[in-house]
Amino acid sequence: MHPSRVRAIFRRLQAANPRPTTELEYSTPFELLVAVALSAHTTDKSVNAATRQLFPVANTPQKILALGVEGVKPYIKPVGLYNTKSKNLIELCRRLVEEHGGDVPRDRAALESLPGVGRKTANVILNMVFGETTIAVDTHIFRVANRTGLAEGSTPRAVEDQLNEVVPAEYKKDAHHWLILHGRYVCTARLPACPRCIISDLCEYPNKTAPRDLSKSDALAAGADGSAPARSAAARPAVARVARPKSGATAAKTRASSGRASSTRSSRGALTSTSRSRRS
Ligand code: SF4
Repeated sequence: MHPSRVRAIFRRLQAANPRPTTELEYSTPFELLVAVALSAHTTDKSVNAATRQLFPVANTPQKILALGVEGVKPYIKPVGLYNTKSKNLIELCRRLVEEHGGDVPRDRAALESLPGVGRKTANVILNMVFGETTIAVDTHIFRVANRTGLAEGSTPRAVEDQLNEVVPAEYKKDAHHWLILHGRYVCTARLPACPRCIISDLCEYPNKTAPRDLSKSDALAAGADGSAPARSAAARPAVARVARPKSGATAAKTRASSGRASSTRSSRGALTSTSRSRRS
């Protein structure tokens, strides 16, 4: 993708959401580390449901360590894989206490050596806690980067490396938030909402969803019960207002996702909130 197009994409995402942030709830670096570690293979919503119960009881490594594996299991159960995640969480706390004085380390190698902490989690911590311009590639970013042509790669690391090369410096700090939110609420896995996507004219995905199929995309994004998760203002997705076409509009056949295979998370959130950002 031409650098001017990359810059235009981020300029537009920034204009629509100047202060993006995570949807995980936390108040300390340690709480964020726990929340991100627990978020593997599950939704932020279910992690928040768990940590709302856990953190009032124990929100330091020492306190969680005191609960023990069996003690934390009831809190971890809602996020799935709770046996493994409970063991990892206790071991994580033990290592933080024994090796880092209970603090979250700033060093990537130290972070990635902790149980349940991989490169993605380390990138989130380095970015959000320590202000580094790391780009954490999750399933949403992997999909959006490949579809749009921002960064094409067969592994998260390949996509991360390319994004680090192409994203302009002034957008790097928030790039992963913009791309995650865009993937979660607009460029969804099963059927992207291209007709109301604010970067549609810049995106190089060849199989964009046709306007006549937008309602299908909305229904898939909203979920079977039509509900939508609560979203903070900072996390609000950037979507463009779109006029619904009259019946009979022709368009290219849609294809769900080039990144579908990597996505196990359901993308929820009805796209009822619309805003128009200034096109650049
Ligand atoms: S135009 Fe469609 S495929 Fe491209 S980024 Fe927007 S929602 Fe995704």
